[in-house]
Amino acid sequence: MKNYQIETNCVQGTYNPKSGEPRVLPITQSTTYKYYNSDDVADLFDLKSDQHMYSRISNPTVSAFEDKINLLEGGVGALAASSGQAATTLAVLNICNAGDHIIAASTIYGGTFNLFKVTLKKLGVEVTFVDPNCSYEEIIKASKENTKILFGETIGNPMLNILDFDKFAKAAKNLDIPFIVDNTIATPILCSPLDHGADIVIHSATKYIDGHATSVGGVIIDGGKFNWNNGKFPELVNPDESYHGVEYVKDFGEKAYITKARVQMLRDFGMTLSPFNAFLFHKGLETLHLRMERHCENASKLALFLENHEDVEWVNYPKLESHETYSLGNKYLPKGGGGILSFGIKGGSEAGKKLAEHLELVSLVVHLGDLRTSILHPASTTHRQLTEAEQIKSGVLPDLIRVSVGIENIDDIIKDFNRAIKEVVKCL
Ligand SMILES: *Cc1c(COP(=O)(O)O)cnc(C)c1O
Repeated sequence: MKNYQIETNCVQGTYNPKSGEPRVLPITQSTTYKYYNSDDVADLFDLKSDQHMYSRISNPTVSAFEDKINLLEGGVGALAASSGQAATTLAVLNICNAGDHIIAASTIYGGTFNLFKVTLKKLGVEVTFVDPNCSYEEIIKASKENTKILFGETIGNPMLNILDFDKFAKAAKNLDIPFIVDNTIATPILCSPLDHGADIVIHSATKYIDGHATSVGGVIIDGGKFNWNNGKFPELVNPDESYHGVEYVKDFGEKAYITKARVQMLRDFGMTLSPFNAFLFHKGLETLHLRMERHCENASKLALFLENHEDVEWVNYPKLESHETYSLGNKYLPKGGGGILSFGIKGGSEAGKKLAEHLELVSLVVHLGDLRTSILHPASTTHRQLTEAEQIKSGVLPDLIRVSVGIENIDDIIKDFNRAIKEVVKCL
């Protein structure tokens, strides 16, 4: 492909049919592939051929999705997984063993937080959480001899805090460890973590990449620039006995990490994306640029409307001047602040909980990134197991209403919120 802009790459990038082949990416619903002779199969097992062997490891439709998201993020290779959680698990376990340590921003997605705090701990990997607004020195201070990863999210959820890429990237460089960034909420349209010092990017494709709330999936993109041969990652340098002596750095160069993730981690854990879901994600990527533009436009209009509403106590959106990481938002998200905002209305938690019952167009769901506008009151739903003190610590204020702003007409969205807020506040 020539050097096209990201919008063109969304629509036409990477899938280039030859004469007489289908214009639209076909779904290859096949576990199995045919060969002429055993030598062809031997080459596959020796990783000398990039044909497909078995759909747990790779599949043409899944590869097409991987190639497109890799192009959009500017990586050297991508690996799809069965969910965002699976992508994070594979990304971490590819380079961490029992006895290793990770530093992560404390404001990361709740599912990732649990994976790190509880499940990785059971596997012997310890995680230290740092306030993402802490100083560079505090990140360094949290490190240990065995620290292997620095982990953050472009846009935190539900705080919507923007990651200070320069600070995190500098710390990772100083510690000589990879900087992994979850770019789910920003998408490659709003932010390119690899341009800001990240080494590996992950996504829950379930959110904006899908965009239509149809499929669960995830993906890892390798920036290809990290030097794994620094003494900290012997498994990428020494022969892999489970793959008759493959040496990832020597044999695959800049693709060492992503190759190991596929042929060792995905082979063994089997968290594979289905071809059908890959087809839907590939289709989602074709309109991602248009959808993100409208998500951002609608979210910033709704944020302004709510900020000026007499019954609204506070509004949180990265592009409002009142936001605590406003300047980071301007620096790293020049095209828009994303489609998520949160706010609180008069009447606190009880009023926040009631709001859903009064909305007509906007629905109550436990999801974000859909093209339909939706809300969630985390304190009474997703975070109800936590005490109020724990909720506040994770950024979930009792009255917080999270909105995933869709791509409908903004006047209709505003009207629905205005009427519902008035109804709820009137009943107080
Ligand atoms: C949803 C989400 C995940 C987890 O993805 P699943 O596809 O639900 O497994 C990870 N990170 C972020 C930021 C998310 O929003």
